[in-house]
Amino acid sequence: MGFFFEPYQADRCCLCGSAESLTGEHKVKASALRKIFGEDAMAIGSFDGTSSPRSAQGPKSRAFHFSARICAPCNGSHTQGPDHEFDRFHASISEMLSQGKAPELVFSLPKYEVGSVRYLDVFRYFAKLLCCQVAESRGPRPLELSAFAVGKTDRNLVFLNIDADPTYEDFLSRFGEHQFAGHGGLMVCADSESRVPTSFRSSLSLGTVRYKFWVQYDAAVQAELQQFHPDFWGKCEVAYREAIKVPLSDDD
Ligand SMILES: [Zn+2]
Repeated sequence: MGFFFEPYQADRCCLCGSAESLTGEHKVKASALRKIFGEDAMAIGSFDGTSSPRSAQGPKSRAFHFSARICAPCNGSHTQGPDHEFDRFHASISEMLSQGKAPELVFSLPKYEVGSVRYLDVFRYFAKLLCCQVAESRGPRPLELSAFAVGKTDRNLVFLNIDADPTYEDFLSRFGEHQFAGHGGLMVCADSESRVPTSFRSSLSLGTVRYKFWVQYDAAVQAELQQFHPDFWGKCEVAYREAIKVPLSDDD
């Protein structure tokens, strides 16, 4: 066993590693979907111009679940605070954007003072999503990140950037006002010279707002990934070679 990761196991909680009482986790919160879409019909898909979207039955549809598992305690008491805090945080961000204010100013509000309980809870929510995205790609469980997500440590490894979602803007110009929510899957960034993975990234879009969040890894973490998790490491290398052939845009 390594210091930084535990091997991926499909039948274990992707936050604490427990095999008991496993449940599903939403890729985009049902409450957020309900707020955005209400009773409207929803379509789910990649919206990449090549694949066809399919209809989703409602905010609780299984189509919105990660296949990665989370145990009942991690999905309940351990992450409820961060889940609820994220709802309040998103409401503050939406309000700031509607007033034309820069979203990063949210951290100058006293309630989100850096290092405060509420501040950490917002980042714990993104840490949970990132752990789920890594597990969804059958990647090893990041131990420190998952411990932070469930409140076992206050050391925050997550970086966050908030901006306007370019897909929403694109759809707005093509189709007019619409409801939109999405996630960015897992993106593994690699050093252009050494080609080793340097960060795990994902994003969450709710209406016009996009949250981009990531963790960065140093040489010790990279060495462990390469040595103890060759399957995932190999997958990252293949994806890197593909990305060289077909580069992603800045927005991707
Ligand atoms: Zn758990």
